[in-house]
Order: sequence, then C-alpha cells, then structure tokens
Amino acid sequence: MKILLVAVDAKFIHTNLAVHSLKAYSDKYKDYIHIAQYSINHTKEDVLRGIYLEKADIVAFSCYVWNIDMIAGIVESLKKVQPQVKIWFGGPEASYNPRDYLIKYKELDGIVIGEGEQTFYELIECYLGIGKELQDIHGIVFKESARVSLVTDNNVNTIMETAPRVFVSLDSIPFAYPDIESHRNKIIYYESSRGCPYTCSYCLSSALRGVRHRNIDLVKSELKIFLDHKVAQVKFVDRTFNCNKEHAMEIWSFIRDHDNGITNFHFEITADLLSDKELDIFASLRPGLIQLEIGVQTTNPDTMKAIIRRVDFNKLSENVKNIRKMHNIHQHLDLIAGLPLEDYSSFERSFRDVYQLKPDQLQLGFLKVLKGSIIEKECKNYGIVYNSEPPYEILYTNHITYNEIIELKGVCDMVEVYYNSGQFAYSMEFLEHYFDTPMSLYASLYRYYDENGLYRLAHSRMRRFEILLDFFISMIAINDKASDKENNDKMLIYDSKEELLVFKEILLFDICLREALRNRPDYVGKPISYKEHRLICDKYKVSKTRTHLESFYYDVVASAKLGRAVKSNSIIVFDYDNRDPITNSAGIHILTDI
Ligand code: SF4
Repeated sequence: MKILLVAVDAKFIHTNLAVHSLKAYSDKYKDYIHIAQYSINHTKEDVLRGIYLEKADIVAFSCYVWNIDMIAGIVESLKKVQPQVKIWFGGPEASYNPRDYLIKYKELDGIVIGEGEQTFYELIECYLGIGKELQDIHGIVFKESARVSLVTDNNVNTIMETAPRVFVSLDSIPFAYPDIESHRNKIIYYESSRGCPYTCSYCLSSALRGVRHRNIDLVKSELKIFLDHKVAQVKFVDRTFNCNKEHAMEIWSFIRDHDNGITNFHFEITADLLSDKELDIFASLRPGLIQLEIGVQTTNPDTMKAIIRRVDFNKLSENVKNIRKMHNIHQHLDLIAGLPLEDYSSFERSFRDVYQLKPDQLQLGFLKVLKGSIIEKECKNYGIVYNSEPPYEILYTNHITYNEIIELKGVCDMVEVYYNSGQFAYSMEFLEHYFDTPMSLYASLYRYYDENGLYRLAHSRMRRFEILLDFFISMIAINDKASDKENNDKMLIYDSKEELLVFKEILLFDICLREALRNRPDYVGKPISYKEHRLICDKYKVSKTRTHLESFYYDVVASAKLGRAVKSNSIIVFDYDNRDPITNSAGIHILTDI
C-alpha cells in the first residue's frame, strides 16, 4: 500500500509542517507514506501528473483557504485518471464544513477533522487491515466509498461522521523534520504550542478552547537541531507565542545563548503582554536573530469590542517603540480592513495609529469570513457580505462600501511596494508632509497609478522611482493651481522648484541606499568622477570597490524628516559592505568638509 500526503504551499520555499508531522507520528508505517510538496505556483497539470505518477492507493491533501481551489481542480481529474484511489482531505479549510465538502466534491472519500496525527495513524492501520474499522476511528467524516477495496460512485447519501477526536499530548508527536538536511534552504515551520487563549471572532484559533505547550526540554533539543544545521529561518506557528511568559522567555533565552549567527526565528506575539523582562532579553539579541509579527488589526475600541479582542493599544505602542529603539528586531504589524463597525475613516485612523509606530512592515489584510469562526454567525448583525468562494473575503459591510474596499486594496498594493519594500523610505517620509494622514498619501498614489494606466502592471524598481517623481510633479502642479486660486497660505510655503530639486535628491538617496547607481536616471545630477572617487576613498579610508559616491546639495535626511528643503553640501559614501542588518540599507558616511 502507498499513501501520498500532498502539500500545496503558498511558496516553494515553505515547508508544510502538517504533512511532516503526520508522517513523523506514523513513523512505524513510514515505508508506506510518501510526501509530495508543491506550491500554488505550480500548474494543476504538473501537480496532477506528479500525483498520478506516484500511483498511490490513498492521496491525502492538506487544505487551507489559499490552496483549496487548486486542490479541488486536481482531485476532479485525479479520480478520472485513477478511479480506484481514495482521496482524503484534512486541514482547517475542510474541518469546519466536512459534509458540505463531501457533497460538493464527489471525488472526495473522507475528511479528517481537526488535529490529524492520531487519526491518520488509525486510518493507515485501517487500510492495512490491522486496525479499527472506519466507523470506529474518531475525528473523521466519510462516504461509503472510503472503505477498503470499495469502488463506488461516491454516493453522497451515505455520509458518516464519527465521534470527535480527543487531543493528543504535543509531547507524543515526534520531531517533524528527521531529514532536516533536505529542508536546509527552506523556511521551516515549527510548533511549540497549539491553541490560543483569546477569542477573536474572525479567527479559527478561537474555535478551540485551551492552549497546550510542548515540553520545554523537547523544544530546546529540537531548536538545537535547527541551530546545528544552520537553517536560514524557523517560523513558529504558535498562535500567540508569548501567552505563556515562562515558556516564551525560556525559548528566547535559549536561542540567544545558542545563536549560530545565521538562523532567524519568527514569532507571532501579542505585544501588549510584553514586560520589562522580555524587553531586556530582546535588547540582548543579535540583530536579525528574531523577528516579530504583531497583530493590531484595529485601534477602534468599538470594533475591538465587536470582534472580542482585548488589546491595550497604548501598552502595545510603548513596547513596539521600545523594541524599535533597540534596532535589532524586525517588527511586522498587521491591520484588517472590513471588520465590524470599522468604516473608511475609522480604518484610516487605525492605519495612522499603526503607521506612526514605524513598523518595518505594515501588512493590510481584508476580513475573511472563515467557516467555523464566530463572525460567520454574526454577518447579519454587521451587514457583512463576502465572497462565497475561498478565501471568503469581505465585499462590503454596513460600514464600508465595495468602492472603499477597492480603494483599500489599492492602498494595500501601494504600501507593499512603497513602504514594505523599504526601498523608498526617505521619499515616502518626505511625501507624508503633503497629506493630512499617511493613508491619504497611499490612496492618492493608488489613484495616480489607476488613472494613468499603471496599476496592476509589473514595473522595475527604477520605474517605480520615476512614477513617484511624476506623481509628485503632478501633485505640486495641482497644489500650485490651488494656491493661486485660493491664495492658500499652506501651499505658498513651498517653492515648487526647490521642493522638486530636493525631492529628486531624496529619490537618488533612496536608490543608492539599496545599490550603486548603474544607469543614471536623467533627473539626477552629474556623477563623481572615477579619479575623485578614488581620492575620497583613500582620504576617508573606505573601500573603493564596494562603495558608491554621490554629491548632494541638500541635507536629504533632514529634508525628508521635515518635509522641506534643508540646504547642505555634502558627498555621501554608500558602503555596501556595511549594510544595516534590519533594513538592509547601505552604511553611509556623510562628508561635509569636502
Ligand atoms: S487572532 Fe490571534 S489572538 Fe486572536 S484568537 Fe486568533 S490567534 Fe488568538
């Protein structure tokens, strides 16, 4: 017998913890189990071909909102070319509406509900004819066709559901990556706890009560394996990693004390829970050793109440600012648009509140009404209308229109390009001064892209800078007209020509912070000669080969900060051997005594 566990990940570089954990738990039967890993960037044909050529008797898929469409298309064809194969689904997307899935997908034989380790083990024994009958295995919903040696036309009238599966101890699950070398260049997902103590209404983690932790010594021994093998990144999937302070502190101290100088660890935390003790540990970490994902979602108190989320935003802000000052930890803050009672202006305030904290990444998500979540039952209360196909994303609510959602999608795309990339930091800081709120800058930029036929097109990095310059020119042209017409004092403080000159220099500064300028855009000044470059490098004892030099007539850092031209002649040396470990920007030496 051959069982194929199929993972379809969001990116090729990800590992799928679920399938590796299932295999590790059923190690006794490992010779029967094969894993096939794909990503949603594969074609359905490629995945179908790969699965078919495995000639497995049972094919089990790990299902999520972001891969279910692709999997559904594959199983339809798979059953056509391999009618005798048994097809099983597992994972959060299939667990909360198993009957609907079994009816919708006639090719499907059964679904494993919730945690799958023990259930999968018993299924293997059932199919090997040495264990329980299907109807005695807890935690499954199946059709008659799932039975051993039975090929039927998957009659939907015979769906059976067994008793719920009782949770296993996390310590009984073996290490998921015994073949760690084969994952060395991938992002490894790792779990030291399951469950979340909170009850956010949009989240599936709130559907199950309680949190279970893996024994801390077991965790440390497994982390040691990652560290010894110098894997690039380990992402903890723990839903609120720091909900148990002691557990979190032990792990943070352990990775600090065993740092190999390479591995980065990612944690999803609730920042308002952090105390001085945790902050002290953070301050002692190598830059880049850990990164933090911090869910804010909204700062509107009514919305927080409606989604049953208790976050002390003042405390969260204070902690995020303190961590930022340490300059050794990448912070990624999340917001969700389309939540109950949050209208466009309220979201704009949430955006402002989070943006002011200057996270390294600001992720804008859109409410997904997941099957089994609390909010699924509350849609009528808030007029929530969502797409009925996965990922069940919001279309509109009583408080936000579809037009506004479209605009926020545009904002999200602009934030991705112009904020999260970190490549336009000073240019955006300068532009922020021209807008009442940070979000109105990104909304305006999105509208500029859209009106000029630039939206949804792939642009090179240099083209993005040109577009930003054109956007600024069009903006000050409009402002100039407005100021003429309305004698607007605010607009008159800007000298159009000078603000344009300084903005061009700020763009140049942002360009050079990432890489040496090879093809000079026509809006920047003359280059420094090769001879002068060598002389300056000799004088200031910096490398001639891994540096780039540019002349500036404005203090670009101060100008970006103040939103106005600050004159100062300088030559800036961009040092690509000494990059900032958090922002990846080149080190700079500002020479003003040239
Ligand atoms: S959103 Fe985060 S904090 Fe809230 S229930 Fe889900 S995992 Fe827990």
